Amino acid sequence: MKSVHSLVCAALFLPATGLSHDMDEAKAHAERGLKAAEAFPGYASLCNLESRIRNVNDRSASNGARRERPASGQRSGQGGGERAERPPLPPMQVFDNLYFLGNRSVSAWLYGTDEGYLLIDGLNNDEEAEKYILGGMETLGLDPDRIEAILVTHGHGDHYGGADYISEELGVEILMSAEDWKFMAPFGVHPRFGPPPPRGTDVADGEVLEFGESSLTAHLTPGHTPGGLSLVFDVYDNGIPHAAMMWGGTGFNFGMYPEIFRQYADSAVKMRDLSQEAGVDVMLSNHSRRDGSDILMAELAERESGEAHPFVVGKEGYDLFTVLEECALAQAARFVEPE
Ligand SMILES: [Zn+2]
Repeated sequence: MKSVHSLVCAALFLPATGLSHDMDEAKAHAERGLKAAEAFPGYASLCNLESRIRNVNDRSASNGARRERPASGQRSGQGGGERAERPPLPPMQVFDNLYFLGNRSVSAWLYGTDEGYLLIDGLNNDEEAEKYILGGMETLGLDPDRIEAILVTHGHGDHYGGADYISEELGVEILMSAEDWKFMAPFGVHPRFGPPPPRGTDVADGEVLEFGESSLTAHLTPGHTPGGLSLVFDVYDNGIPHAAMMWGGTGFNFGMYPEIFRQYADSAVKMRDLSQEAGVDVMLSNHSRRDGSDILMAELAERESGEAHPFVVGKEGYDLFTVLEECALAQAARFVEPE
């Protein structure tokens, strides 16, 4: 399908694939995105106009998520560098009803109370799920049998890899959007992530998930994958209520498709509006290198009584959506429509 955009490109005799299109427009968006990224440095790379845009979703060229980067902790030999030697992130209670159970590569979050938890994401594979999710809960004195379901934010192996293990160990359902169940189904057995889990339960756009005494709203935010889910939920800091937003899929690794970049930007705008409605003041991600939760958790561990919670941001928190929107539009302007 040819858009007006691509017809304009054709009229201007611009190359049909992959080369720069409107760099002035790209630079203008990137400038706005980078300014907004001052408070969110983990997302600034999205506005890099020289980045190579991979396509981890191209199953004809590779096995689905094969091109996802290896976990830093698993790198060995050349290229491992000092990152590989950084100590793992300890499991941590971040709010009264939210726990970090991830590693440096990818995050899993446990939301809820001992009346019932929802596990958000399953890490790279079964071994990590056992070590960081079940092991982390044990360290924190939490009962895995209180997990009622696993929500997988999107259909990439670093989030679903260990979900089937948890699902089988605990006898709980895996929840995803119908779009991403379909999207990932053809991914075969991957050397690091294993197979995608068999189809479980669908989550619809705007659906409220209730478990124990908690609830969470899942919103469809297509872009990173066709059916990524971003989440809005209440968190409590020593009883003081806040509202959190978790952006469900971040990287620009879906190929040089301006239409998808624009869809991504639309999803950012949608979540800005929904977050404002919900009074969101905590911005989370499923990768600690994006939301800076590795740094924020270290600050939280040192927090003195009466000090502000490091994860709670003020109005500037909404700059995150400007970063996501403007960087996506900047990248969209780099590329003409592929044939
Ligand atoms: Zn992903």
